[in-house]
Amino acid sequence: METTVVVVGGGMAGLSCAQRLHAAGVPVVLIEKEFCGAGASGKTSGFITPDSEIELSSLLKTYGSKKAKEIWEFVRSGVDGIRENIKRYKISCDIQVQDSLFVANNSSGFESIKKEHEARRQLGYASTLYEKEELEEVLGSGDYFGAVRYPETFGINSYLYCQALRDALVAAGVPIYEGTACERIEGATVFTAGGQISVEHIIVCGDRFIPDMGALKKEVYHVQTFLGITKPLSSLQIKKIFPDGEMMVWDTDLVYNYFRVTGDQRLLIGGGDLLYTYARQLSNNVAHFERRLKNYIHGKFPALDFEIDTVWPGMLGVSKDLLPIMGPDKNNKKIWYVGAATGLPWAAALGVYAAEKILIGRKEFDRDFSPERHFAIGPCAQTLLTTPVTYALSHGIAKYL
Ligand SMILES: Cc1cc2nc3c(=O)[nH]c(=O)nc-3n(C[C@H](O)[C@H](O)[C@H](O)COP(=O)(O)OP(=O)(O)OC[C@H]3O[C@@H](n4cnc5c(N)ncnc54)[C@H](O)[C@@H]3O)c2cc1C
Repeated sequence: METTVVVVGGGMAGLSCAQRLHAAGVPVVLIEKEFCGAGASGKTSGFITPDSEIELSSLLKTYGSKKAKEIWEFVRSGVDGIRENIKRYKISCDIQVQDSLFVANNSSGFESIKKEHEARRQLGYASTLYEKEELEEVLGSGDYFGAVRYPETFGINSYLYCQALRDALVAAGVPIYEGTACERIEGATVFTAGGQISVEHIIVCGDRFIPDMGALKKEVYHVQTFLGITKPLSSLQIKKIFPDGEMMVWDTDLVYNYFRVTGDQRLLIGGGDLLYTYARQLSNNVAHFERRLKNYIHGKFPALDFEIDTVWPGMLGVSKDLLPIMGPDKNNKKIWYVGAATGLPWAAALGVYAAEKILIGRKEFDRDFSPERHFAIGPCAQTLLTTPVTYALSHGIAKYL
């Protein structure tokens, strides 16, 4: 078989990578262990915003204005790419154009919100700051301490998006093999149960599964979050939550809560807790989180009467500093890993980057997202502390110090 690239993984990163390569005329095959969207990409709350785990103010502090802006533009390219695909392929994925609203849970959280607002203004991005009293005009809760709002963001059903992008790629002639796990890679050959493919490049868009494939065991871990969806709300109930129009909301806690309204008027609510966030195994304790998510919304909107329909858990890949991990395999330069995306737009942008690495030798973020970059807690201390503790501490450092 004459194929130049194998992409492993049919999530947002893998699909975007295959799409970019195919558009440039490069023969590409995508293999996916289960089905496209079976990983994190198909389980999300569908917030399409550049702001996922790491805020612009953190980037500004760590990298200075030039680099921070370059990184933000990189993730914004992921937002744009998803929007363009929805238009180009007429993807029916419940797109909901909603501003982003980052809300403070307490007064110290409001200090972070103000920093985010200042960072956005400094780097030339639209931003509105709400003090507590003003916020109540756009969000019907008296329980937050302020917020920053910005436009050009939207919500989607990311499972439908992945499935539709898969269909569009298959229709365009990209071979996509679902139910086909990469069992091992030797040199330039990918082995699966059904056969092997020898190629020039292998791009592993495996996110949190990369350590299962034997690589980046210290550099990539996962966090767990839970999502619940209510039964449909009335227009009046929604108006009470969002008196000035619907928005995608998340708060300032380390393990944060988030919510938005879907096209069929359901409230999608997400959150977790410290114990479960860093647990090694996926938990199905959905009853516990149904209570937690309900309590959160009741606490913020006491008058809202609602019923949770379904709750599900999900895991996403993360690095210790919440920026992605990408780079070549230590012993096999044919392999390029893409992981720890911590966000759909990030994953989309990283997939394109990996493709353009082959196409045009792209390299401007190689060092920033390298697995060999410096982390606050290094591999030796990680062994002593254990991986869950290391990641919890590292994320506290990345967000608050
Ligand atoms: C509950 C939840 C809510 C989230 N909400 C949001 C949100 O609102 N907004 C946002 O931007 N981000 C959100 N995220 C994060 C986002 O989903 C991820 O960062 C992103 O989807 C990662 O995409 P990916 O393609 O890198 O990984 P994945 O989607 O996980 O894709 C990796 C793929 O690799 C496949 N695979 C694994 N091993 C093999 C193998 N050996 N061979 C072949 N294939 C293999 C897997 O089956 C999987 O399909 C959320 C995540 C979760 C879990």
